[in-house]
Amino acid sequence: MHIRQPIVAVLGHVDSGKTSLLDRIRGTGVQGREAGGITQHIGASFLPTETIKEMCGPLYKKLEQSENKVPGLLVIDTPGHEVFTNLRSRGGSAADIAILVVDVNRGFQPQTNESLKILQSRKVPFVVALNKCDQISGWRKSETKFISQAIKEQDASIQADLDQKVYDVVGTLSILGYKSEAFYRVEDFKSEIAIVPISARSGVGIPELLSVLVGLTQQYLQKRLNQDEKEPRGIILEVKDEVGLGQTANVILIDGIIKKENSIVVAKRDGVIVTKPKALLLPKPLDEMRDPRDKFKPVPQVEAAAGFKIASPDLEGVLPGSTLYVASNDEEIAKYTELIESEMKSVFVDTETN
Ligand code: GDP
Repeated sequence: MHIRQPIVAVLGHVDSGKTSLLDRIRGTGVQGREAGGITQHIGASFLPTETIKEMCGPLYKKLEQSENKVPGLLVIDTPGHEVFTNLRSRGGSAADIAILVVDVNRGFQPQTNESLKILQSRKVPFVVALNKCDQISGWRKSETKFISQAIKEQDASIQADLDQKVYDVVGTLSILGYKSEAFYRVEDFKSEIAIVPISARSGVGIPELLSVLVGLTQQYLQKRLNQDEKEPRGIILEVKDEVGLGQTANVILIDGIIKKENSIVVAKRDGVIVTKPKALLLPKPLDEMRDPRDKFKPVPQVEAAAGFKIASPDLEGVLPGSTLYVASNDEEIAKYTELIESEMKSVFVDTETN
């Protein structure tokens, strides 16, 4: 079985700390001295297992016993639920799993509920990152990056306070139909949502958060992540003009491999586009960049899961959120064209009846 890395999205209320968490995850990866470090994709960052292992230390041991290990985590750089709401195809999702960020002192807020509804409708599993623990009144700063250890170092009253805040979230989630629990008390990760207290500012709890994500995806998302016999498929995140390249699309490749000589089949406002990409592009590593405008590097192929860019003059009118299909012969082109046309018809019928 060839398991790809899961695609992770970060959602939550404004100011809950989504951007800070993403920066912290990326920053930790950048500082990782050992093999790998973080790789920048287009619209996403790849955190290889080696880096996560280094961050998690002894925590990681258990995860290594899994038969089907994920090669890392691909984290979508844009926080917020827009990544989900503009999806054209119904039911699908670019993300395999999500981090729902909740401010520990504020609890659930309007956009937390909104995010949750979206995850529910797209059937995306999630973990709750209970952020800003360092802001709990009386919280003692400690050296450890592990939240389980940091909690032990707090006064009993602070521990009780955190427990209460965790239970507030458990209570809210329970009203919404979810069973949840602090991650160190979860018995069954399949039926209970894990709540991981963290501080995006100090970095405490990030190792546990990443371990829970790796553990969950390795154990429960194998079928989705297994690449054997999966047709290549992606989702268009954004369509934009780039200096020197013209029309481009930022794509998250969810399954399979796309090669430069393949044709892409994708919906546009008023029909289907079939075209061969002019180039497949990845970000140029900093040390290869001679000019700040010289940001991208052409590659012969891209393998899922990945964030990459397609340059093609034919992308005019392509809508963000559309599914991108990859065809290697005429038969496949015909199959995907028909599929998109029937999807467009059903969306049309839906809008008419709603
Ligand atoms: P977003 O709107 O969800 O992306 O939230 P941001 O990441 O922009 O954070 C909002 C504010 O909260 C900023 O001023 C951050 O510095 C602050 N913040 C984020 N995470 C933490 C944290 O863990 N601890 C503290 N004390 N402040 C935080």
